[in-house]
Amino acid sequence: MSSKDGGICRIKMPFGQVSSSQAKAVADGARRYGNGQIELTNRANFQIRGITPPDEDALIQHLLDAGLGPKDAQADDIRNVMVSATLGLDSTAIVDVSDLAAQILAFVEGDERIHALSPKLSILVDGGEVGSPADHPSDLWLSAMADGLFAFGYASRPPMSDQDPAPLGAIHADHAFDLVVASLEAFVALTLKNPSIKRFRDADALALAALVSGRVPVSPAPKDWRRARPDRLAQIGLIPQNQACNLAVGGVSVLGRVTPDCLTSLADLALTANGGAFRLTPWSGVLITDVAAADGPKILAGLMALGFTVDRDAPLAQMVACSGTSGCASALAPTKEDALRLAGLLTGAVDVHLTACPKSCASARVADVTLVAVDADHYDLYRRQDGLDGFGQKHNQGLILAQTAEVLA
Ligand code: SF4
Repeated sequence: MSSKDGGICRIKMPFGQVSSSQAKAVADGARRYGNGQIELTNRANFQIRGITPPDEDALIQHLLDAGLGPKDAQADDIRNVMVSATLGLDSTAIVDVSDLAAQILAFVEGDERIHALSPKLSILVDGGEVGSPADHPSDLWLSAMADGLFAFGYASRPPMSDQDPAPLGAIHADHAFDLVVASLEAFVALTLKNPSIKRFRDADALALAALVSGRVPVSPAPKDWRRARPDRLAQIGLIPQNQACNLAVGGVSVLGRVTPDCLTSLADLALTANGGAFRLTPWSGVLITDVAAADGPKILAGLMALGFTVDRDAPLAQMVACSGTSGCASALAPTKEDALRLAGLLTGAVDVHLTACPKSCASARVADVTLVAVDADHYDLYRRQDGLDGFGQKHNQGLILAQTAEVLA
């Protein structure tokens, strides 16, 4: 994709899982062909920014040589199966969805009919983990309930309040994969009949669910079922894994960006921690898994030394900002720089999202507080309100940063 600061190369990491050698290849690619900025996206992928002609092909070849490409080039964009970064390791999970998520990803990658769908289409497989990206809206979602059942829905998210749409139904775990296949096949058929339908939100969800329920044994989901609201802070600090002897150690990047040197050092830290594996979180953070309990504090200190926020109470722990004027022609304000200034004015963590236009590239979910730029120096402040579309209720208009900090305090 092209942007104001050059080309952006997105590198999809299945379930956000990265080896040290892959991370070093991304860092090296950014050093040689980019402007030195690597982004950790809210879909747990890497992005290299600032690529200028004629370097595109050389960068792509460099990444393919490192084994970072898709199994099928046509399937690259559609590989959007979202899970918790703690997949398979999480003691807060209702059920381990590793196998189900892998089965769905293999289907999406392997079926040519799916490749033609919108590259933005996403599927959430939620095992009930406290840090799952369950509040990011998805085209198709499955969320674990009790008794081996999953609730499911289209173009929405698992309900977390009375204002959220109820699930379309429930499906037993034994049929969850079949439900995803039936839903995608029914959706593909719809798009072929009506090419203006691109995402599940363009379709009639109830009609689609009725088609699907003819193929798989769907039952009604309890009307009062609610998923607990996920906690993005749950993937910061020392996190017990489901094997009692191991820890995951997490930190958040500063506003979703790292340098090539930082990523190389992170790869080395993972090598010393567990032989060289870490995960990207859907919260623009990293998680080094399978760390021996005795090593946890040392690895946490290592993440902190690399610039990751490891304190859940720090202002930057929950702050996100889009690229702003330095990277985007549509931006009205320098959101990255403003976010750093705002963090300097705050004393605690606030779930706040700065966006330089209403498109909201940096956050798929609605933050507690959204600051929408209205010009280079002023923001409108919205507070999330369940049941209200968009960013929520407009609370203040045209604030400068100092006023914003006062309101947040
Ligand atoms: S939210 Fe708007 S200004 Fe920010 S990166 Fe996206 S398009 Fe650009």
